[in-house]
Amino acid sequence: MSYVLTLTCRECGRTYPPEAEHACAFCFGPLEATYDYDAMTGRVTREAIAAGPLDIWRYADLLPVEGHGPVSLGAGCTPLVRADRLAVEIGLGELWVKDDTRNPTGSFKDRVVSVALTKARELGFKVAACASTGNLANSVAAHAARAGMQSVVLIPSDLEQAKVLTTAVFGGKLLAVDGNYDDVNRLCAELASEYPDWAFVNVNVRPYYAEGSKTLAFEVAEQLGWELPDHVVAPIASGAQLTKIDKGFRELVRLGLVSPLAGHDAEDPAGPVRVSGAQADGCSPVAAAFASGADHVRPVKPSTIAKSLAIGNPADGWYALEVVRRTGGAIGSVSDAEILEGIRLLARTEGIFAETAGGVTIATLAKLAREGVIRDDERVVAYVTGNGLKTVEAFGDTAGPTATIRPRLEDVTAALDGHLTTAGTTTGPVAGAVAGTTTEQAS
Ligand SMILES: *Cc1c(COP(=O)(O)O)cnc(C)c1O
Ligand SMILES: [Zn+2]
Repeated sequence: MSYVLTLTCRECGRTYPPEAEHACAFCFGPLEATYDYDAMTGRVTREAIAAGPLDIWRYADLLPVEGHGPVSLGAGCTPLVRADRLAVEIGLGELWVKDDTRNPTGSFKDRVVSVALTKARELGFKVAACASTGNLANSVAAHAARAGMQSVVLIPSDLEQAKVLTTAVFGGKLLAVDGNYDDVNRLCAELASEYPDWAFVNVNVRPYYAEGSKTLAFEVAEQLGWELPDHVVAPIASGAQLTKIDKGFRELVRLGLVSPLAGHDAEDPAGPVRVSGAQADGCSPVAAAFASGADHVRPVKPSTIAKSLAIGNPADGWYALEVVRRTGGAIGSVSDAEILEGIRLLARTEGIFAETAGGVTIATLAKLAREGVIRDDERVVAYVTGNGLKTVEAFGDTAGPTATIRPRLEDVTAALDGHLTTAGTTTGPVAGAVAGTTTEQAS
């Protein structure tokens, strides 16, 4: 069953029935799902959640849908990885990476789309549509296929090839628009009034879509043994994900599923978890507003390799700013070169290959650690939200084989000379690997 009471305007507080609406008819403020927390208290329990499926639907009672037979490809329950090597490199203590590269279509968008299309189907929609920076496109096309719905997906025409291909293969309609995401989004808003019988994931069903990101908070708390982290870092595109991670942690405290951190009580506005945001320099309107202390987010024209985060006019930018300020976090931004270095750093320390958005998060994490905003006495979680296989072009020809050689022993020796440490830490594993190869070839 659903515990949702209403959609409530975030600006004026007017309430609406939980249908396909996203903006207040009076003030145009965004609508947000509000729940009957009193009815949930004591009924939504750790035990009930633990008995649920190993995907986001274990938290169905905390989501704005009925949840019978959800539209699901199994999003969620991704690994929370203790990242000690990365922590040492950037000077932190207890650091965890939430590895959302491992979702069905390779990004956290599977969480939000699964919720949005479940609600869309409950409301009787037959067509799923969206404007996308790439990952949403993949996920909508895939989940629509799963649900037996048609899909209409609009993307900027300059997206990474992998994101275009992995959307097209699902057989929906895919329209590449000559323009940037903000142009595509504007077009989608017009389409939404022209085609009211389509479920636009990020327009008329946006309040449901956005709630899916709360599962990023629920899972982290459950994976930490029903404890809160001190500080999390999340990337910002529209700002919805970061805002809902905070909402998720607040709900857990409110429902008594986790205790507030030491020194806080359940009512403390400064919490429950410090939330910091990450953007690319080439599209950093929320980081700029944070840095200047502005109380509104001024739109920008994006130019960055982090295309999944390239929203110049972020719908929830102001709310993200509010969360970060309230919880005592910060918002940093990083250059394209730092993004690539962030991807490499995570890959070589933890074996996780992130897309450019993950590079933004890791590079910003390192920067905020250097600045002392994120401290080494904090339990920190970094959200890595997309898979590196989708953005390989970002590396151009800067990543490739160490050398290309003839199949001869002396070529190997010559190629490895100077690339490996001759004594100490790496000798063991490297010698082992080489020996293993030799043995296989001999047998
Ligand atoms: C869409 C996206 C985000 C950010 O989402 P918002 O909720 O719009 O801020 C982060 N990471 C990846 C990989 C994405 O595709
Ligand atoms: Zn309103």
